Amino acid sequence: MALLITKRCINFDMCEPECPNQAISMGDGIYQIDTGRCTECIGHYDKPTCQQVCPIDNTILVDPQYPESNEQLWDKFVVLHHADRL
Ligand code: SF4
Repeated sequence: MALLITKRCINFDMCEPECPNQAISMGDGIYQIDTGRCTECIGHYDKPTCQQVCPIDNTILVDPQYPESNEQLWDKFVVLHHADRL
């Protein structure tokens, strides 16, 4: 699943530069995650790095609206990084 930044976000600015997929950007008052680019960090890290660096617990959660298998997340990783090299 893609991850979701909740309203608990305090704009600490740690997650956006750490995302290896450039999936995080400033949204309407708080940061947001582009579900089309979030791979749960598969291909880069063992755990979602945005969750690791966020200082507020339970702010970045899996988004139940975007269920994806590990295989689908790997496919997304391959497509994203192939496209970025073109
Ligand atoms: Fe980016 Fe990884 Fe967080 Fe997804 S889980 S938004 S890819 S840092």
